[in-house]
Amino acid sequence: MSTFVEDLMAEVKAKNPNEPEFHQAVLEVAESLALVYERHPEYRSAKILERIIEPERVVMFRVPWLDDQGEVQINRGFRIEMNSAIGPYKGGLRFHPSVNLGILKFLAFEQVFKNSLTTLPMGGGKGGSDFDPKGKSDNEVMRFCQSFMTELYRHIGANTDVPAGDIGVGAREIGYLFGQYKRIRNEFTGVLTGKGINWGGSLIRPEATGYGAVYFAAEMLATRGETLEGKVCLVSGSGNVAQYTTEKLLELGAKVVTLSDSGGFIYDEEGITREKLDFVMELKNLRRGRIKEYAEEFKSAVYTPADPNLDHNPMWDIKADCAFPSATQNEINGKDAENMVKNGVFLVSEGANMPTTIEGVRVFLENNVLYGPGKAANAGGVAVSGLEMVQNSMRLPWSREEVDNRLRHIMKSIHKTCVETAERYGTPGNYVNGANIGGFLKVANAMLDQGV
Ligand code: GLU
Repeated sequence: MSTFVEDLMAEVKAKNPNEPEFHQAVLEVAESLALVYERHPEYRSAKILERIIEPERVVMFRVPWLDDQGEVQINRGFRIEMNSAIGPYKGGLRFHPSVNLGILKFLAFEQVFKNSLTTLPMGGGKGGSDFDPKGKSDNEVMRFCQSFMTELYRHIGANTDVPAGDIGVGAREIGYLFGQYKRIRNEFTGVLTGKGINWGGSLIRPEATGYGAVYFAAEMLATRGETLEGKVCLVSGSGNVAQYTTEKLLELGAKVVTLSDSGGFIYDEEGITREKLDFVMELKNLRRGRIKEYAEEFKSAVYTPADPNLDHNPMWDIKADCAFPSATQNEINGKDAENMVKNGVFLVSEGANMPTTIEGVRVFLENNVLYGPGKAANAGGVAVSGLEMVQNSMRLPWSREEVDNRLRHIMKSIHKTCVETAERYGTPGNYVNGANIGGFLKVANAMLDQGV
């Protein structure tokens, strides 16, 4: 490790104790940037990275609400406004019991680079709450969202900070949040993305992250003269990203054999068909059920419950060609990555944010895996959010085809930036360096232009 990285990490850890995910995300970027700093000392002397890792603003607030029994519940709400050098803060809201300041800071930090890579003018932010929507009634979710927005509204705006969904925040939550914002502010603006199609949303936004991760994979495969046709794919998760990743993979002739949730995973040796995917969509989006039910419905599938005592996840120990981790952070450790390589996986396209640990990433890079890190591979979601903002500004919606073409074009352009940047900095084929440096340069130059 260079002394620059060592010194920086010592400071990051001292200043931000108990935030291991944030440390991990910063370390990965700092290691890539060591290559840039050798050539361009001006970024180092202007302390650009040191500035990027300090959020421009952090808002933390109380979210009181009444449950269906009339009892008072209290959750904690957050919004991290990380960087606005190239545009208004942009990034999702996550509602999950694991949410804390460190997790949201890692996500907001990643978002800065991801948004920069999309080619659209968006800064980086993230927010959310430790509220758990699982098992809550629609009315409870609505009351929670209304209370959350009753504080958040004063910090956001269509030209200031534009939140969207993330884990635990989908169309239902965005609807309740938007309704409350509109009621308080008495204005109809594009303050949130992921809106319903009849009230300012964009076509393809629900599909965008998954489709984008598959488009990115197709681009990576093309560098080796290959396509997705006939490839056996492991997909983790079973929410929005996993569903549309599976849909696009099926469309392109690949075979998807796994899906998962926090309870465990299913392995369907015969492959998930369109009909089976429809079952999953109904199960997860309407009934809010568990993936276990898939194996009860389809006899070709085996369900394996999650075992926290294992040092690896057996889902990553299945023979396959490609993997699309689409659940949450750090679900692939070093051992999992070794198992994947051993089983023939030669492409990983991350639909989730930071699903692979530092050790896992090292294994992929050492074994020449086509490894697309989340901030590049899953940027399609926020990219179409950016396109939703464009349509809101014009007050004119685009067709499905128009949005999908633009998404494809953006994913191609992100891929090109990664490949060319990695090559320029002496590490051809290293998408980690390509994404980190490519995302950094645009933000860094804007920060230099705008002064301290
Ligand atoms: N939560 C998504 C992400 O991690 C999307 C954010 C957005 O659309 O603003 O990029």
